[in-house]
Amino acid sequence: MSTQEEALEQERPASDHFMDLSGITKSFYGRTVLKRVDFTLDAGEIAVLIGKSGSGKSTLLRIIAGLTKADDGDIDMMGERVVIGGEYQKTWKAARDQVGMIFQNYTLWPHLSVRQNLALAPKKVLGESDKVIVERAERALAEVGMAHHLNSRCGQLSGGERQRVAIARALMMRPRLLLCDEMTSALDPPVAAEVLGVITKLKEEEGIGCVLVTHDMAFAAKAADRVSYFEEGVIAEEGDPRRLLSEPETPGLRKFVDAVR
Ligand code: ADP
Ligand code: MG
Repeated sequence: MSTQEEALEQERPASDHFMDLSGITKSFYGRTVLKRVDFTLDAGEIAVLIGKSGSGKSTLLRIIAGLTKADDGDIDMMGERVVIGGEYQKTWKAARDQVGMIFQNYTLWPHLSVRQNLALAPKKVLGESDKVIVERAERALAEVGMAHHLNSRCGQLSGGERQRVAIARALMMRPRLLLCDEMTSALDPPVAAEVLGVITKLKEEEGIGCVLVTHDMAFAAKAADRVSYFEEGVIAEEGDPRRLLSEPETPGLRKFVDAVR
């Protein structure tokens, strides 16, 4: 982008959506894995990303989280243009602080207690006092149904409990958006459904939005405001989950829905 184009870009008002990605493009070793992807999310919405392995879902989440840099594309968040032409702007950090992440293997420290795990980021990043941290930890644990586990050692928790604690840890930073990448893939279906139920509750009670990658179509049908189907680096189909999953239009989505059903 030329300096002049960049100046024009900065003048264009940022999007009214909570988050607005446009033209996100990414290649690895000459192979394009995201091809000018556009994606919007309104405050407190749950968006579910589906698609075959390798279609680009995780890469998109990682770009939103700032863990992978896009080659091109813009990101607006909360009325600020935080990424221009793939470059993170100064406004990025403040927006990024409102985004929490939960991954399948985003491990807690097993030898530390739940409280210690929850305290790490707020202490280091926000410099919060122990009193504030404990109060917030109690509240976050209550929200994920783990109120009695403040002093449990993380290594002794079940998989489902650990992912609840991972959600609580994200809540410690008071996010307005959670990014969840296959966070229940290692769990048995009933346990996974309970953990995903926490996401719905956070939306309803706290207005926290979520972009969630999952193969759980029951959750998508029930809880998603919108489903986006990824195919080879593009969103090939997108819309209301009930319509999308019951009457898929693209052959790829039809096949995908049959395969995961
Ligand atoms: P999904 O999450 O939909 O399974 P990914 O976003 O993880 O897909 O991957 C999309 C494509 O990008 C895959 O072909 C993957 O191998 C490739 N890819 C992802 N991350 C890297 C990386 N760090 N280096 C090289 N290739 C990568
Ligand atoms: Mg992935």
